[in-house]
Amino acid sequence: MTNLNIKGLKNKSTHSHISFSDSVNHMVERAFKVLNLDPGIAEAMQACNSTIQLKFPVEIDGKIEVFTGWRATHSSHRLPSKGGIRYAPIVNQDEVEALAALMTYKCAIVDVPFGGSKGGLLIDPTKYSSESMQKITRTFARELIRKGFLSPSINVPAPDMGTGEREMAWIADTYKQLHPEDVNHAACVTGKPVAHGGIRGRTEATGRGVVYAIREFFRHPGDMKKANLKGSLGGKRIVIQGLGNVGYHAAKLLQEEDEALIIAVIERDGALINDNGIVIESLKQHINEHGTIKGYPDATFTENGHSALELQCDILIPAAMEAQITDANVDRINTKLIVEAANGPVTFSADEKLRSRGVTILPDAYVNAGGVTVSYFEWVRNLSHIRFGRMERRFDEARGQHLITAMESVSQKQLPDWIRNEIVRGADELDLVRSGLDDTMRLAYKELSEARMENPGVDDFRTASYVVAVKKIARSYTDIGVY
Ligand code: GLU
Repeated sequence: MTNLNIKGLKNKSTHSHISFSDSVNHMVERAFKVLNLDPGIAEAMQACNSTIQLKFPVEIDGKIEVFTGWRATHSSHRLPSKGGIRYAPIVNQDEVEALAALMTYKCAIVDVPFGGSKGGLLIDPTKYSSESMQKITRTFARELIRKGFLSPSINVPAPDMGTGEREMAWIADTYKQLHPEDVNHAACVTGKPVAHGGIRGRTEATGRGVVYAIREFFRHPGDMKKANLKGSLGGKRIVIQGLGNVGYHAAKLLQEEDEALIIAVIERDGALINDNGIVIESLKQHINEHGTIKGYPDATFTENGHSALELQCDILIPAAMEAQITDANVDRINTKLIVEAANGPVTFSADEKLRSRGVTILPDAYVNAGGVTVSYFEWVRNLSHIRFGRMERRFDEARGQHLITAMESVSQKQLPDWIRNEIVRGADELDLVRSGLDDTMRLAYKELSEARMENPGVDDFRTASYVVAVKKIARSYTDIGVY
């Protein structure tokens, strides 16, 4: 683990252990080499532009507690800079900066016109009441706003580990109270509840994006062959780590829509294994009721959850946190395809080993970009002050109805109901969000494939994704110049 430093001091590289930031940097440097990038541009691109550390007091149950939080802006070649805020008992400046860097590359890969940012608050949210969490979140947000690290045009947070709609609603409201004159106040944060300016489909977006990425991989027989995979996603044996917002939606969709077999679920308190598949929805209900995966009747429980990463499977999906596949377990990883739903789950040196073994990895900066993609849709929706589909839905319906009438009168036959319904249905916001997300993931995959074809020696998806990102970001530096 790279982030054992709970005091928030930066982890520096040593020979045996490199920080999360260094791990990301080393991976990106492979792309610099391929592109023969000007060293000055490379240095400018890697540098984290600014990081603020905040220590702020909050009165909790009559006692004052001081909290520590960070917001790092890695890049601002596009504005606003974008990225989640995580609440965790272990988070530090290096981690936040590494995650901010990943946001920069992620946005470039999926053509989302944002810079990269990330925030973190050192807190165990399970230890506080909802009222206290609200107080803490509002104070943190107010400090960020005052210091210029939160606004619709400069820096727009979103959910991440330990945060969700609830926190985003508090943040949005705090901003609105401080800036009631800003007509675009709702765009100061994404991942809000729909009733407060959020967009339909944002909560499931990262998990759904993961699934769209996997489906696209399965549409490329050459890529499948390299990974030693055949056939369709149906029946593929999947191990997933983390049943949080990302892992839950990814696993559920893979099981319910693609008929994949989820043979193991790894959580904080252990792992559940069942070779015949675990029903994700019923497991989720069990977790909601009992707060643990323990005691779930339809699978075998093992206390040593981490060891389940080593199970033989077709697809391994780490969807929890960084540094899960490291030098310590990489030699025992027994899968054909790793799909990085989490940020940074494979360390640099583990990645080198997996590459040399020819294990295919779909990298984080591509795979989990669905979250920020739909955040982009939400931000645009907020700026345009209108729900997607509101103007055209009934018009499309009427046109569909005319089409059916025309077809039926020419053919003198009645169309089956399901075709009628499909033709007549105008797209609502959720349809459009899903369509935009699918399109984004497919287009990005195409760009990764082209980068692999065009650059000799770039065979793996991670280097390809950084080649794509670095090229785009470098252009914005060279076109505009550095002053
Ligand atoms: N926290 C998510 C991520 O790591 C979403 C960021 C966003 O939507 O801005 O990609």
